[in-house]
Amino acid sequence: MFEKILIANRGEIALRILRACKELGIATVAVHSTADADAMHVRLADESVCIGPPASKDSYLNIPSLLAACEITGADAVHPGYGFLSENARFAEILADHNLKFIGPKAEHIRLMGDKIEAKKTAKRLGIPVVPGSDGGVGPEDDAMAIAREIGFPVLVKAAAGGGGRGMKVAETEADLLMALSTASNEAKAAFGDASVYLEKYLTKPRHIEIQVLGDGRGGALHLGERDCSLQRRHQKVWEEGPSPILSPEARAKIGGVCAKAMQDMQYLGVGTIEFLYEDGEFYFIEMNTRIQVEHPVTEMITDIDLVLEQIRIAAGGDLPCTQEEINIIGHSIECRINAENPETFRPSPGTITQYHPPGGLGVRIDSAVYQGYKIPPYYDSLVGKLIVHGKNRPECLMRLRRALDEIVVDGVETTLPLFRALARESDIIEGDYHIHWLEQYLAGKPAKT
Ligand code: ADP
Repeated sequence: MFEKILIANRGEIALRILRACKELGIATVAVHSTADADAMHVRLADESVCIGPPASKDSYLNIPSLLAACEITGADAVHPGYGFLSENARFAEILADHNLKFIGPKAEHIRLMGDKIEAKKTAKRLGIPVVPGSDGGVGPEDDAMAIAREIGFPVLVKAAAGGGGRGMKVAETEADLLMALSTASNEAKAAFGDASVYLEKYLTKPRHIEIQVLGDGRGGALHLGERDCSLQRRHQKVWEEGPSPILSPEARAKIGGVCAKAMQDMQYLGVGTIEFLYEDGEFYFIEMNTRIQVEHPVTEMITDIDLVLEQIRIAAGGDLPCTQEEINIIGHSIECRINAENPETFRPSPGTITQYHPPGGLGVRIDSAVYQGYKIPPYYDSLVGKLIVHGKNRPECLMRLRRALDEIVVDGVETTLPLFRALARESDIIEGDYHIHWLEQYLAGKPAKT
């Protein structure tokens, strides 16, 4: 097992990793930018190192600084969390060159899944159903119109290097296609330095359902059920729950089995998420994330498996925690991502938290790194914390969620709490009847189901 882990992240996920390390008896090193000197992850870690000025590129993304911090503290492994360097294959390789363990998948798998065109080809080869679309990238030499006609409009132009919903444009009709191609490609070039794009059938009312997987890197792999992340704004998840309100145990076992088998064939190592769109009873692969995800607590609550702890154990050469048959889905869980943003305009609202009272009681979990008097810096994401609720079934979970949302106090900054209080009382949500465009239609004041 590792003796000392350097946590190359900040905020709630740094704290989450720290908790797993404490339970495993592993010493922790926090790193921080000058803007995060007072952050909770710095206070709770055994040691801390300042790695640069506020801008992420100079601190949390600064590989030489992180290597120096490992060297100074004698850390033997690095946990990247999510975001920042978590899906950077080169970082994983550089750590290996310095005899440091990267707590994550093999570099080749990070690279493969980071290119969405290659990821889709790999998924297809491994027997995972994919969204109908172009076979690979669509360049100037290709007849994009012919490909789009074959797929059928509307089509979605997507960036090969895409992430966070960027570099994605819908072409409703033939007249929109050329414009969508150039906008998506320019956006991708600006955001990711890679202009390649591909085409996909645009599904009109799918749900976003993702399967959590865990592999030992030696051909053993499990699936831990699904999370339904259909409530999104600008392709960003807002509310996640598991199990999906609409998936039967048979459908879960079937798609989960396909994913676990694919991970066995790849000899995948660590945690991963295989994301699908689900429409009319069919699953369509969109991408795979080779890291721990923001919404991982939903799965932890319904399987009673500590994913971060298992991630660390497996990176140190450990075995899978159980067999597939031993995994049971227990009750229901919902996560709300509470952001410091105006609940109507979603404009970030950094500033000082003047009052903070987290909710408690049976089935209520808060993953957050804020405290009363904490100043949310303007440089990073605006996540205040995640409220995760568990109940023995969905109605009980919603009941506890409404109670917890009414109890929590975060003053001094604007938050998205009023939105969640309203959502938890909406009839479509209570009935579990929503798709990936529901939230935007609701926010625009249109009847959400049409
Ligand atoms: P990113 O890596 O930018 O997050 P994804 O491929 O994971 O991109 O897609 C993000 C979201 O965009 C999905 O959850 C879904 O809401 C929407 N989306 C992606 N592909 C399609 C598609 N073919 N049809 C309709 N919506 C899509």
